[in-house]
Amino acid sequence: MEDLKTIIRDIPDFPQKGVVFKDITTLLSDAKSYHRMVDLIAHRYFGQKIEQVVGVEARGFVLGAALAYKLGAGVTLVRKPGKLPYKTRKKSYELEYGQDTLEIHEDAFDKGTRVIIADDLLATGGTMAAVYDLVTELGAEVVECAFLAELNFLKGRQRLPDNKVYSLLQFD
Ligand code: IMP
Repeated sequence: MEDLKTIIRDIPDFPQKGVVFKDITTLLSDAKSYHRMVDLIAHRYFGQKIEQVVGVEARGFVLGAALAYKLGAGVTLVRKPGKLPYKTRKKSYELEYGQDTLEIHEDAFDKGTRVIIADDLLATGGTMAAVYDLVTELGAEVVECAFLAELNFLKGRQRLPDNKVYSLLQFD
């Protein structure tokens, strides 16, 4: 797994001074690494009857769609405000650098639909906590929140229910 970690590059002072941003685009654009990441994460959920993968805009789409395809599941999009055409449920939340809102179509799930929520990176956990609330409020059953990477020192997993967080890569 070290090779997948080292292909992610650090960008100092992005998007603001003092923040070291993990740039995962270098992993996505490397065919071998991208396929390996998807295979490793998907493998965890084989045989678990995953019906939908919820992708969080925008990098969560890149992981979420590939996972859904591998698992024979559908894709549900969680988007920035004003992008989804039908009636939506919204949630605002604090993030590492400011505030944001996310939306999901209000008819996204039948009750009890088994879902994974996918995003690229778990930092403070604010984003995923908001998405988790949206998804459960609409009646879906969250099997797990799956990330490519987690910044352990920000303790984001503490904002999510126990045993519902999986990250392929950990950064201390
Ligand atoms: P959180 O809400 O603080 O956990 O931030 C996670 C969200 O912000 C995810 O949707 C990530 O895509 C994005 N994010 C925060 N920090 C980074 C980073 O260092 N690299 C890539 N994405 C990040």
